[in-house]
Formats: sequence, C-alpha cells, structure tokens
Amino acid sequence: MKLKEKVIGLNYYHNDGHDLDMVKEAGFNWLRRYVAFPWKDAMYGELTEEYIRLRKVIQVAHEKGFKVMVTTPGLRDFNKDFLGPVGSDEFYENVMKTCAWYVNDLKRMVGPLWCIGNELDHFDQGHGLDIVAETAFWSCEGIVSADPDALCGINLSRVWDQGLEFADMVYREGHKFGFIGDDQYFGSWQRPGIEKWYDAIDILYERYKLPIVAVEWGYSSSGETKPAPPEGTIMKPGYTSVCHVFGWHYEVEGGHTEEVQAEYLRQGIELFAKHPHVLGQFLFKWSDPKTCWACGRVGCPAECFWGIVDTNLNPKPAYYSVKKAIKEYYG
Ligand SMILES: [Zn+2]
Repeated sequence: MKLKEKVIGLNYYHNDGHDLDMVKEAGFNWLRRYVAFPWKDAMYGELTEEYIRLRKVIQVAHEKGFKVMVTTPGLRDFNKDFLGPVGSDEFYENVMKTCAWYVNDLKRMVGPLWCIGNELDHFDQGHGLDIVAETAFWSCEGIVSADPDALCGINLSRVWDQGLEFADMVYREGHKFGFIGDDQYFGSWQRPGIEKWYDAIDILYERYKLPIVAVEWGYSSSGETKPAPPEGTIMKPGYTSVCHVFGWHYEVEGGHTEEVQAEYLRQGIELFAKHPHVLGQFLFKWSDPKTCWACGRVGCPAECFWGIVDTNLNPKPAYYSVKKAIKEYYG
C-alpha cells in the first residue's frame, strides 16, 4: 500500500471536533487519536460509552475531510477476564479479533495508518515485555486480516536499547507491519536539538528497512530550565522529574518560549517533509490542557504547553509558523 499524499498529522486529544476547521486551516490532513476498548463485558457485547464518544469524534473528523490514525489499546486495556488469561492463545486470538473488529466498525473513516498501542516499550505492566510485544504483533495481524492494505506500526518512546530490543520482538519474522514509529522530544524531555532526528531515523531505517513515522514530536513553549533532581530523589506518586522541579532539564537556544517553539516546529516540518525515509509526522500537539495529567497541577511545564493553540484555542506563534511551513514544504 502506498499513500497517495504526505502524512501531515497532528496529535489531537481531548477535544470533541468543534475546533477542526482551525486545524484544517493550518494545513493538517491526518489526526491521531486513541480508541477505547469497545465492549463492556463480552466480546462483541454492549459498547462502552467511552468507545461511542470516541467514535463520534472520528466521525466528525472524517466528515471534515481528515484521515485518522487510530491508536489501538495496549495490554492494560486488553486485560479483561472475558478475553482469557493474558499471554494465552485465547487472549491473543481475542486481541486479534478485537482489532479486526475496529477496522470494520470504523470502516472508511480511518486508516490505512494504524498506531499499535502507545510507547509500549516503556512498561511491561507486570507481564513482561515479551507479552506486550506479542500483543502488539497480534493486534497488527488482526488489522491486516480485515484490511490487507493497512499500514501498522508501533511508536517507540524513543530510540534506546530497551526500545530496540522490544521492537525486535514485535517486528519478528513474518510480521505484517508497514512502518516503524518513534516519539522524540529533543530539547524538552531530551537533549537538544531537532537535528538529532537524523540519527534516530538512520538507526531505525537501518534496522527495520521500513518507512519511519514521527508519531510524536514537538517543543514545549513554556517552563523555566532547572537542573534535574539528584538521583534517588523521592518524588510524589505519578510525578515526572519535570513536575518535581516545575521546570525543564533541557532547552534549545533561547529556552522554552512561544517564539522558540514556533521556529523549532518550522525546522521539524522541513526536516520530515524532505527526508526520504519519513512517511509522515504527527506533531504533538493541538491545544494546551489546563492541567498536567501526571501531577494534576495547573500550568505544569511537563504537559501544559505543547499545543500550537492555548487552552482557549488562541493561536500561538507556532500555529502560524506551522501553517506557513506546511504550505512551503508540502505545498
Ligand atoms: Zn506535572
């Protein structure tokens, strides 16, 4: 399956679709959205409210002319009694059937790109990364069984040894994946800067010989830069180290400002548009949330300033620089 157009995507969470004209105006043609596990208490049973709500958002996006890359559930959401014991043949078969069902239920509104789980190389959830990997493998099998043209990929949390070992397990002999995805936040969560993507892309392309999708990338437009807490610091449950010091440990030149974000995103769009091994990119993200999902506080740098529009949908400078860059590099 070849995509006829470049994937100029956006991570679009939380919002219900009422702001999609603004997203369209910026030039994006793809959105990425999680999809909930569909059933309450039995395979093919009654649908959950969460699934119905998300399906409506996908419907709205489709009607506005977007393509949607769905992110399938991870092991945590598949871990239900009625799917069978985690790691059993029955379990994997039900994972596969669930993913095939998504294709049919969301027919023509989503695909051909599918993101299998989210940053699965991070957490084994007490079951072992081999079981997480096997779940990802059978998720892809399910989707491709229902749509042979589908292009599935996992998104690594970053290019690191554990991530590559994990990807080796998922992309094992006979796999039907069509791309490999990666998330990188150079200059915010990681050392600067945007040009480090070249190394990440090279490593992944060399190893898997598949097109690369930058599934999450971006730059936080606010937050002071403060040293990371010393090793062994005890933090409140759920807190990241950025929540703990209420500041970033990394920055690109100029720090975390809206102007620096605007230029950083321009450079990223140029890089992805021109790179021969990049199939597409999904910018992180559309709008700022009021609170940080990790620590729950208002205005925490860790999660509150990734948007290209603010909490009230007012465009930041990045909205305009992204719009201009999309026109220039993809036009
Ligand atoms: Zn926080």
